Amino acid sequence: MNVVVVGAGPAGLMAAEVLASAGHTVAVYDQRRSPARKFVLAGRGGLNITHSEPIDDFLARYGPERQHLKSAIRGFSPEDLREWCSGLGHETFIGTSGRVFPEDFRAVPMLRSWLRRLRALGVRLHTQHTWVGWDGESQLAFATPTGDVVAPYDAAVLALGGASWPKVGSDGLWQQTLIEQGVEIRPLQAANCGVGVDWSDVMVERFAGEPVKNAAVAVASSDSDAPVDEPIVVRGDPIITRTGLEGGPIYAHARRIREHLGRGPVTISIDLFPDLDFHALEERLSSKRGNRDTTAKWLKRCGVAPVGASLLREATGNELPRDPAAVAELAKAVPVVVRALSGIDRAISSAGGVTWDSVDENFQLVAVPNVYAVGEMLDWEAPTGGYLLQACFSTGHAAANAISASNR
Ligand SMILES: Cc1cc2nc3c(=O)[nH]c(=O)nc-3n(C[C@H](O)[C@H](O)[C@H](O)COP(=O)(O)OP(=O)(O)OC[C@H]3O[C@@H](n4cnc5c(N)ncnc54)[C@H](O)[C@@H]3O)c2cc1C
Repeated sequence: MNVVVVGAGPAGLMAAEVLASAGHTVAVYDQRRSPARKFVLAGRGGLNITHSEPIDDFLARYGPERQHLKSAIRGFSPEDLREWCSGLGHETFIGTSGRVFPEDFRAVPMLRSWLRRLRALGVRLHTQHTWVGWDGESQLAFATPTGDVVAPYDAAVLALGGASWPKVGSDGLWQQTLIEQGVEIRPLQAANCGVGVDWSDVMVERFAGEPVKNAAVAVASSDSDAPVDEPIVVRGDPIITRTGLEGGPIYAHARRIREHLGRGPVTISIDLFPDLDFHALEERLSSKRGNRDTTAKWLKRCGVAPVGASLLREATGNELPRDPAAVAELAKAVPVVVRALSGIDRAISSAGGVTWDSVDENFQLVAVPNVYAVGEMLDWEAPTGGYLLQACFSTGHAAANAISASNR
């Protein structure tokens, strides 16, 4: 079979490997000068390739979309992915949080080994080819710096990614092309992203770039102080930015914040002392106030970092109460009003994409037979922790196997 893969990210390259290993003729096209740029970018912060938790817990991270992904993820599981890495010569290890990383944390060495394997399997890679649609039936059309080209196919795999960090190639421009073919798309939106907060000038000037160490973040309320639902608390170090907040615990709440922002402003709450209960904190605040202490000195003596003290001031319009119980209550749940999610350009991933009604159980487009959609361009989302890459590898793997099976 002659198979064309468009998109040389993890999903597309995995599909190419499985197909070429099964003896098919495979060509991969990508619009950037080099393949897998987002994968390389992911490696810059330490490539978290998958997660080691039990498979049912793992699948739960995909929320309602797990029902569409579970067969692919069970078919090429986190253990399979670790074995695959090892087969490439890159051993992985499980970090303290259960996350799985290559031993050197990097993506580039693994990508090099992978491309070598793909070349040995006869996979041809065409860079600087932007897919623009179809030219007649069974021919994909590409724009290149030297003119338009077409590629005939028996089967095609689209692995075009989402729309975050568009400068690495995943620009989401494919959405319109597929809509014109009758494919339903849920618009791509930022996921695992920061949030916008209207900080005071003092906060921005003094604390932009600083982490709030060892905090716990919950989504507290939407438009009034009524709880939106049971808050889920995420521990970590949210980071103050000039325009809001970033970091793991914020990304983890992005999906809920997005859903609730539709109803009005959302308040998140930051617990500055997640390891102390209210009474212990109140006692500490009561016992440590010297007669001549300024508020700043008192808070410092109680272990409130300057950035935490500034959060308390932001929340009270710089009118911090003097009563230890009131300060303890505030420090256990500093309210921060979120006005928006940050833009998709700097998000880790995107939500939305090709809807589940538009593909069959093998990720084949219902409207365009013999064309499959895999990876982040499908309509699922997941938190950081290795779940993103795993679903991309697994869906690429599953679609490739389905293509091979259809040829028997
Ligand atoms: C900063 C950052 C850190 C991350 N860290 C992690 C992590 O540690 N762990 C994790 O699990 N996930 C991480 N991710 C997410 C992960 O990298 C992505 O989910 C994953 O790369 C998506 O894979 P994909 O193959 O679906 O698409 P992509 O990797 O986005 O690849 C899509 C490819 O399609 C090409 N393309 C798009 N449109 C066209 C077109 N019209 N014609 C031709 N080619 C086209 C693009 O150039 C691109 O190469 C991170 C993401 C970012 C931005």
